[in-house]
Amino acid sequence: MLLTITTTHQPATDLGFLLHKHPDKFQSVDLSIGQAHIFYPESAEAKTTVALLLDIDPTDMVRGARNLAGKGFALGQYVNDRPYVASSFMSVALSKAFSTAMNGKCEDRPELVSTKLPFEIKIAVLPAPKGGEFLIRKLFEPLGYQVSLQRHALDDKFKDWGDSKYFTLALSNSLTLQELLSHLYVLIPVLDNDKHYFVSQNEIEKLLERGKGWLEGHPERDQISSRYLLNLRSLTRKALESFHEADEQPEDSEEEKISKEEIKKKETLHQQRLALVLEQLKKTEAKTVIDLGCGEGKMLRMLLKEKQFSRIAGMDVSYEQLNKAKERMHWENMAPKQKERITLFQGALTYRDKRLEGYDAAAIVEVMEHLDENRLDSFERVVFEFAQPKTVVLTTPNAEYNALFEKMEPGSMRHADHRFEWTRKRFEAWAKHVANKNNYTVEFLPVGPETDKVGAPSQMGIFTYGN
Ligand code: SAH
Repeated sequence: MLLTITTTHQPATDLGFLLHKHPDKFQSVDLSIGQAHIFYPESAEAKTTVALLLDIDPTDMVRGARNLAGKGFALGQYVNDRPYVASSFMSVALSKAFSTAMNGKCEDRPELVSTKLPFEIKIAVLPAPKGGEFLIRKLFEPLGYQVSLQRHALDDKFKDWGDSKYFTLALSNSLTLQELLSHLYVLIPVLDNDKHYFVSQNEIEKLLERGKGWLEGHPERDQISSRYLLNLRSLTRKALESFHEADEQPEDSEEEKISKEEIKKKETLHQQRLALVLEQLKKTEAKTVIDLGCGEGKMLRMLLKEKQFSRIAGMDVSYEQLNKAKERMHWENMAPKQKERITLFQGALTYRDKRLEGYDAAAIVEVMEHLDENRLDSFERVVFEFAQPKTVVLTTPNAEYNALFEKMEPGSMRHADHRFEWTRKRFEAWAKHVANKNNYTVEFLPVGPETDKVGAPSQMGIFTYGN
């Protein structure tokens, strides 16, 4: 995957200063999934071109990433387009390779930062979802780009197989380098349906930061935000609110409808996780179940729909979360019969509590990593020694998988409140120890798409008492 940026500004060699990259040096930056190389195929006063070449490691990384999208084709996770197309990896590479320029800094030639320069950009190749050429034009033309697209055939030798979804894109425009890089940073992943990394609040901030000055006024602003944030409604809504827009949701465009369907099929990781927890609980004979660290009650609402469970409880340390849970389940208007089935209360998993006793099963979904590690012994006793449900279904992130979340810095965690994230080995050792000590057996399951090397995004332990 290759991106080139050419200028004929005089002297064109100014591009090297603006990018903080010397034209005579071949430089590389590390990405979580390979490397990006920066070099100048031509550097002269009349014309200078810089190239950014993505070198994605197809074995280490692609399997995992593609698992999300390679469905319906058994080899999809091994044979796929990731190493060859411009995708969200390109954005990561841009921000790593050209961070100074993206932030609008240039010590040697400060006046260049705000100077509009003539640029020609070439991207080979770009995947475009349904809507292809039309969508690409809708994104770039309002920003003043002249767009020229060459669509590639599926196979040159077999013309009647038709066209692929891949394009070589050529753009030209006169604008500042910072504007150009920001446009590419946001719009390339917008065109890529398979953006797979961890999408969080953080992403909204990046979108707003990189979109400053142009995204607010872009006619496709809502669609760009929604696609950039992987169509996650709650995040998109927040981003749109930041544009001081009225709340009304615009009619979905054709492309949005299509990509939403695709996203729906994929399901978010958390939904998958909750569904898997529910599946495990349903396999048991449990009639009563408690969700420990229930948060805003997604699991509780799923449990309420299952007749198997006659008594359901949700416990969380946070009043705010409990109030949200009540709101979400329409507590005030709940039918009396339903209301009788469910109890919500505030409590902490690190203190012995009689109210936790007497349930057949407990769910503890993405909670333990919020506890300080030196409190884990108390947590263990509270759950396995005192509350002692017959079944405990517990999930926690798998730290190994973080390597695939391309925007995460090595060694960082997925959530600001996480106190630790464990590898599979670490988690399994802890779980086996706890099980042995408390007369439980434990089995493990991956949660989410599993990769060969780093496993799945989350991991699950299913503990059964007294077997
Ligand atoms: N299980 C929910 C929420 C996970 S977020 C879900 O999967 O959607 C983690 C939750 O754990 C938060 O709601 C937080 O308030 C709660 N939590 C953190 N420390 C806790 C503690 N010591 N005792 C009980 N709940 C705790």
